Amino acid sequence: MAATDIARQVGEGCRTVPLAGHVGFDSLPDQLVNKSVSQGFCFNILCVGETGLGKSTLMDTLFNTKFEGEPATHTQPGVQLRSNTYDLQESNVGLKLTIVSTVGFGDQINKEDSYKPIVEFIDAQFEAYLQEELKIRRVLHAYHDSRIHACLYFIAPTGHSLKSLDLVTMKKLDSKVNIIPIIAKSDAISKSELTKFKIKITSELVSNGVQIYQFPTDDESVAEINGTMNAHLPFAVIGSTEELKIGNKMMKARQYPWGTVQVENEAHCDFVKLREMLIRVNMEDLREQTHSRHYELYRRCKLEEMGFQDTDPDSKPFSLQETYEAKRNEFLGELQKKEEEMRQMFVQRVKEKEAELKEAEKELHEKFDRLKKLHQDEKKKLEDKKKSLDDEVNAFKQRKTAAELLQSQGSQAGGSQTLKRDKEKKNFF
Ligand code: GDP
Repeated sequence: MAATDIARQVGEGCRTVPLAGHVGFDSLPDQLVNKSVSQGFCFNILCVGETGLGKSTLMDTLFNTKFEGEPATHTQPGVQLRSNTYDLQESNVGLKLTIVSTVGFGDQINKEDSYKPIVEFIDAQFEAYLQEELKIRRVLHAYHDSRIHACLYFIAPTGHSLKSLDLVTMKKLDSKVNIIPIIAKSDAISKSELTKFKIKITSELVSNGVQIYQFPTDDESVAEINGTMNAHLPFAVIGSTEELKIGNKMMKARQYPWGTVQVENEAHCDFVKLREMLIRVNMEDLREQTHSRHYELYRRCKLEEMGFQDTDPDSKPFSLQETYEAKRNEFLGELQKKEEEMRQMFVQRVKEKEAELKEAEKELHEKFDRLKKLHQDEKKKLEDKKKSLDDEVNAFKQRKTAAELLQSQGSQAGGSQTLKRDKEKKNFF
């Protein structure tokens, strides 16, 4: 009997029975709370926005502390992400908070690829979690989950409309992270302008199909407040760590020559709304959504890319074992195909080389024969020349001998004539 059939039977046959007395499982929620509190929580915020829009100041203001960090310059060649993790403690609850901030966002002339490092960073955190999940010995309870739970998108208080960089970036991120858009430095914009600006931003987000995070309204206890807060998005915030004495209370505020803006005054800005929604009411939902929606999507796409499926082409359930074996066979088949291709290629190359060598050998033979013939011709020519020279030498020698003979005969004949002439001379005297 298949496991699904058994489950169905159990489900169908499940009856509600009254308990005769207290058993104790009503303490389960307390057990969960105790376990979670002892393990501690982790929350990761990504701040995306142009340099100088007040990202660091807002984080300090939100968590009522001073996080370290050098102010970023406007001369970065590209967008980078700076990540810092802090251990915070409130009452007996520990929070491992990671704040990731963009550095150099919006500072380049060509902003076409500015969203890429952010997308890559978010994906890298999903990938690390997936790798941990896929390990045989996984330690997810001790694993430092670095997946981004909330992305605060800082919009410049221009009062006009969203920049194309904002729209493109939010569009690229909306399927990967919970985006909460906020109007930064909202003390720079007047009350009436702010109302119009909020409407304009909301309509631009809708018309461009950008999905921003909606505070959940399915839980009765927070449905009303979350519903109301959804209507206030994007929150217009002000950040300041400076405390000023207002009345007889110390308050976070920004002081100007013409007056003071109080960060926590709801008539001045939406900072309190943001803090309520982000930290006090919906932190768990943001974590939940990250895991069940965004990570799930990443995981599904990644596993499908790797060849895993839930059903086979006939819509029958596909087991992991079968998927693994199918993938393995496919891989082995491909490997064999590749091996055969390489073998064929090798044989072909050897044949080509052999033909090349044969051709070269033939050429060498021909060259050798040509040279040999040339040598023989040369040799014959030299021999002929030597012969003719020998003949000439012999002829010369013969002529020389004949000439010497003639000369000696001539000198003998010359001697007797001289004697005769001397005798005739004597007789004359
Ligand atoms: P980051 O580069 O986005 O992290 O910006 P910073 O937090 O370093 O802030 C840059 C400057 O803006 C600092 O001088 C802050 O004091 C100032 N600043 C921060 N928040 C606000 C705000 O809400 N309103 C105004 N007017 N200035 C702010």
